[in-house]
Amino acid sequence: MTVLRASNRPTKQQPAANFTGTVYSDEIVQGKSPSRMRASVVSFTPGGRTAWHSHPVGQTLYCLSGAGRVQFEGQQVQELRPGDTVVIPPNTRHWHGAAPDKLFAHLAMSETTDTGEGTAWFEKVSEEDYNKAPAPMT
Ligand code: MN
Repeated sequence: MTVLRASNRPTKQQPAANFTGTVYSDEIVQGKSPSRMRASVVSFTPGGRTAWHSHPVGQTLYCLSGAGRVQFEGQQVQELRPGDTVVIPPNTRHWHGAAPDKLFAHLAMSETTDTGEGTAWFEKVSEEDYNKAPAPMT
C-alpha cells in the first residue's frame, strides 16, 4: 500500500505547447502495469483551455468547481458546471477548459493503451472557436 502525500507533489503548470492560458495540474495517480489508470485534477484560470486533442482509450471528466467549457469537433461548445460528467469516446477530437470569466477545475480520468500510448495533441483552440456561444444547457 502506498500513501502519496500531497506535500511531496507540488502543483505543476501545464506546458504552453498544449494549453492556452495558465493551467495547473495536480496528479492523483499514474497506475503501474497492469493498471493503465491516470487521474489528475486540472485547474484552469479564466480563458484557460487545452489544445485540440484525443485520447486512445477515451477520457472521463468530472467537474469539481467553477464554470467550464467542452467542445467535440463539429459540435457546439457546451457549458460545464460542478457535478457534470463528460464521457469522451476513444480517438475523438475535443478540447476542454474554463469559461472566459471563471475559474474551472475538473478531475480527469483516462487510461493508456496496453502499449503505453496516451493523449494525442493537435493545434491550439482559436479565439474564434473558443468564443462561440455555448449551446443552451439541457
Ligand atoms: Mn481530453
